[in-house]
Amino acid sequence: MGLPGHRRTSSDKRRRAAQDFLERLQIATCPNCKAAIKPHHVCKQCGTYKGRQVLNIDRRTARLVKKVEKRAKAAPAPKQTSKA
Ligand SMILES: [Zn+2]
Repeated sequence: MGLPGHRRTSSDKRRRAAQDFLERLQIATCPNCKAAIKPHHVCKQCGTYKGRQVLNIDRRTARLVKKVEKRAKAAPAPKQTSKA
């Protein structure tokens, strides 16, 4: 089995550990709708990238609405008893 050729000194360890930190998350704003987005990513709010419409948001929301309606049908919301 291989063995370490040299002893790792405390400064070796510390120098390596100096790189082990989390970088702050970069956040950009969408030029179209000003929503917070990741840089170089499609805006999930309006579906644009570099000023081009690349996602059909209307179709996506329609699909979401359908999903929610389906869920509501499967488990109907508790009946509201109004005492007023
Ligand atoms: Zn946007």
